[in-house]
Amino acid sequence: MTGQANAPAECDLAVVGGGILGLAVARELKTRHPGLSTVVLEAADRVGTGQTGSNSGVIHAGIYYAPGSLKARMCVAGAGAMYELCERRGIPYDRCGKLIVARDESEIPALDELERRGRENQVPGLRRLGPDEIAEVEPHCVGASALHSPATGIVDFAEVARALAEDLGEQEVPVMTGAGVDGIADSGGRLRLSHAKGETRTRFAVFAAGAAADRLALLAGAPADPRIIPFRGSYLKLSPERRQLVRGMIYPVPDPSLPFLGVHLTRHIDGEVSLGPTALLAPRGALARTAAWPGTWRMALRWWRTGLTEMHHALSRRSLAKEAAEYVPELEPGDFEPYFSGVRAQALGRDGSLVDDFVVSETERAIHVRNAPSPAATSSLALAGLIADRAEPGLT
Ligand SMILES: Cc1cc2nc3c(=O)[nH]c(=O)nc-3n(C[C@H](O)[C@H](O)[C@H](O)COP(=O)(O)OP(=O)(O)OC[C@H]3O[C@@H](n4cnc5c(N)ncnc54)[C@H](O)[C@@H]3O)c2cc1C
Repeated sequence: MTGQANAPAECDLAVVGGGILGLAVARELKTRHPGLSTVVLEAADRVGTGQTGSNSGVIHAGIYYAPGSLKARMCVAGAGAMYELCERRGIPYDRCGKLIVARDESEIPALDELERRGRENQVPGLRRLGPDEIAEVEPHCVGASALHSPATGIVDFAEVARALAEDLGEQEVPVMTGAGVDGIADSGGRLRLSHAKGETRTRFAVFAAGAAADRLALLAGAPADPRIIPFRGSYLKLSPERRQLVRGMIYPVPDPSLPFLGVHLTRHIDGEVSLGPTALLAPRGALARTAAWPGTWRMALRWWRTGLTEMHHALSRRSLAKEAAEYVPELEPGDFEPYFSGVRAQALGRDGSLVDDFVVSETERAIHVRNAPSPAATSSLALAGLIADRAEPGLT
């Protein structure tokens, strides 16, 4: 049904956004209520081309996130569900494990805190390693201490999204591609969604539109806060003959005040090994919109120094490679070539703070996913359950 010509004029549930999250929500609600007439409306000509199609591909185990936060709970539950789905559907994945490496004594308190969080979040199998044990897991990696997470894995989330769309096809849920929603209005107790394939009146809608989350929420009458600001993350990849220097994943101890995990070396399911991502504010034609939000300027004042480092990384392969060599000293700039980039949809509050946790809010006939950055791909199946619970009163 993907890409069919006519969208239904009426339905019970419309899910806007055919990324991994929207597809998972549609599948969850249709499975719970087979009688619900449901449609997915996706702007692009294929599903899973947004953030779902351009990311590190890591099934996170749930280490970093504040205990009790949605990220912590959804990530741990979502990772388990993701592995089960991959197993059941024959989607290739690899639980290849990850190291978070403290380079020297100064990074050990922050690593201790990550370990404490990971244990409180009940991440399975966490181990603390000294320098010799680091070399047993990653023979070419050096560090003063590391946290090993054997439950962290890799997958192609776009392939997961395609599998979810196939499930929806079997459930007779049309996944309309090329159907970007650009108008939302109340219409006789329903929501009227105007889109590139016509109009659909629905009893209830779930908006999971990634980078467009704030625009659609505003159209539906939700508050302007928070806004989405796009961060472009670029990756380099290792040349094939140097890939054996990295077995799984090697991450730094991240800056605890930023919701990003730092530049990491990651094996991908197709065998490539990436280095990245950078985190550069990437307005992508939205400069005016981003600059008009007071939070952008407040953030810029707070983070200008970090911003300069990121700009340096983004412009210089040498500077990124130098950072990787702090963990794997054999790596050199000539080992890397450009790979891909993805745009992170990160919510920013009016006060200039980057919103850390997932945010799901409601208007009268809709649920809006307002902040679903990493690890939302890992968490998607668990988040779909949470969103479905919250949608049910409006649907039954
Ligand atoms: C560089 C990078 C690295 C990351 N690494 C990881 C990782 O390793 N592990 C992890 O778990 N997560 C990671 N993430 C985060 C993860 O990719 C996202 O959290 C997840 O994909 C969000 O899924 P989504 O469905 O909400 O958004 P998206 O995949 O962005 O989907 C939103 C969809 O909505 C559609 N849309 C937009 N506007 C409209 C409209 N008006 N009408 C209809 N449709 C519309 C878009 O075309 C898109 O298909 C990373 C993200 C990036 C960018």
